[in-house]
Amino acid sequence: MSTMKFCRECNNILYPKEDREQKVLLYACRNCDHQEVADNNCVYRNEVFHSADERTQVLQDVASDPTLPRTKSVRCAKCQHGEAVFFQATARGEEGMTLFFVCCNPNCGHRWRD
Ligand SMILES: [Zn+2]
Ligand SMILES: [Zn+2]
Repeated sequence: MSTMKFCRECNNILYPKEDREQKVLLYACRNCDHQEVADNNCVYRNEVFHSADERTQVLQDVASDPTLPRTKSVRCAKCQHGEAVFFQATARGEEGMTLFFVCCNPNCGHRWRD
């Protein structure tokens, strides 16, 4: 199941983008100015990164969760894999939402933030 979204104005691929003021996840077109708010079902609003153990568990769940949106517009810095799951969460000790990416390579699981 593809979760790729396309611009309704010009049919180009929409890329995930965090609106830091509104604290929402958007899909934005890089070809025109069109952008839309991401489906709330796909957005995690919990604080997910607590401890190292918990984090490992979460990362495994995240990378294999078929309901989370994926993007091929990023590249893992560790293994050069070209697909990552992304979701929004509150980083520990920080306010506001951050967009996280998790490498889809099951042997990697590298995570990084926008
Ligand atoms: Zn467009
Ligand atoms: Zn990777």
